[in-house]
Amino acid sequence: MRRYRSTKIVATLGPATATKIKIRELLLAGVDVFRLNFSHGVRADHRKIYKTIRDLERKLDRPISIMADLQGPKLRIGTFKSDEIELTAGDVFRLDLKEAPGCQSRVRLPHPEIFEAAKPGTDLLLDDGKIRLRVNKVSKSTIDTEVKIGGILSDRKGVNVPGVLVRLSALSEKDRTDLHFALDLGVDWIALSFVQRPEDVAEARKLIDGRASIMIKLEKPAAIEHLDELVEVADAVMVARGDLGVELPPEKVPGLQKHIVKLCRHLGKPVVVATQMLDSMVHAPAPTRAEASDVATAVYESADAVMLSAETATGDHPIAAVEMMNRIIREVEGHDTYQVITEASHEPPEPTVSDAITLAARQVAHTISATCIVTYTTSGSTTLRASRERPGVPILCVTSSLRTARRLAIAWGVHAVHIEQEERFSAVVRRAVETARNEELAASGDMIIITAGVPMGTPGSTNVLRIESVP
Ligand code: PGA
Ligand code: MN
Repeated sequence: MRRYRSTKIVATLGPATATKIKIRELLLAGVDVFRLNFSHGVRADHRKIYKTIRDLERKLDRPISIMADLQGPKLRIGTFKSDEIELTAGDVFRLDLKEAPGCQSRVRLPHPEIFEAAKPGTDLLLDDGKIRLRVNKVSKSTIDTEVKIGGILSDRKGVNVPGVLVRLSALSEKDRTDLHFALDLGVDWIALSFVQRPEDVAEARKLIDGRASIMIKLEKPAAIEHLDELVEVADAVMVARGDLGVELPPEKVPGLQKHIVKLCRHLGKPVVVATQMLDSMVHAPAPTRAEASDVATAVYESADAVMLSAETATGDHPIAAVEMMNRIIREVEGHDTYQVITEASHEPPEPTVSDAITLAARQVAHTISATCIVTYTTSGSTTLRASRERPGVPILCVTSSLRTARRLAIAWGVHAVHIEQEERFSAVVRRAVETARNEELAASGDMIIITAGVPMGTPGSTNVLRIESVP
């Protein structure tokens, strides 16, 4: 189960892949992190999938990361009397709080917060931006609009209000219930959708209480305005290009992606580039050249992971999509250009003992052609700092915390192995050598680098660098 690449693959599970056989195939094809999307599906299905993944994890003896992606405060209209209506540019259309089913001239919008936030001139985007309404007049319970771009509108379509900070909690009632459910299952990552302010993350962190790590999804302009503070308080970040490209003009997304990836790499937070990466593979057996190039771009930017959504959740070729992604990543990472770019883009170390050691580990590994860097860790923080260095060799994380091993599956270049707790440094060294051999990261005669904290057992105390040759 060793991966011959550093960039990780996140795959969303759904009706196309919800069976034991498919999940196993996805895993063998290269998935490192499975995403359960709580915008869809019922809890019983999520529970079953969760159990299937953990069974596989035991059988294959490989820590696997599971992410629960909460729907977040996605705004939606109500339903219509007829199944759908057709809006034409120039029509007037009203959104209100009335319960009655919608018709050609109005529909329910059950979110009083929008009625406070919308102003004349504000645009409302419906159904992933396909329909655009311009606000003319707002009262406490009505928004009168003129249709700017028309189209077919049907029940419960999503509403985006670009550029307007809507005073919604980042967690809806459904999110809170889903969150408890996911934490009880034991997921490793909680993804927070439509985060707007650092307070949103603080609120979630209080509820999560250390039971999982937090990935914030950047998909609102308000989040971009608070970018630095938000990334600072998150454990990891997703560039959620789907909604981001509705809330902002699509041409703004590539530059933002670069900026966000760079910021995350600077701060040492894992970053995932997501959405539409191999979109045509939802139906076609091969991607477009532009899609292959999009995956390659994220790899060149040195994102920690790339993500598949509909491709694996509902697509016709879920396994082929993962195989394709795996091949693109390996091809790019094997290129000289990639190595030159990565080599030129190291982030300067923070003035800490841990960064001093991990920077040295990368340089020593390079100088003596060591085959891997082993980090012995409890919290995983040193391993993430080692990953931030983007060394030219794999990072073998040995940890007695299964949760740490699972969580780190998302991090660039990290191969995590769960081991028994060791009390003495000499035992850690023995264990590191043995694990590196077993995991095929080193063979007889190779040199490996080991980092650890002595005395053992104090988290975040890495202070030793050891060079060991494999007997
Ligand atoms: P979603 O998030 O798939 O939950 O909408 C990702 C995105 O918006 O890009
Ligand atoms: Mn989204």
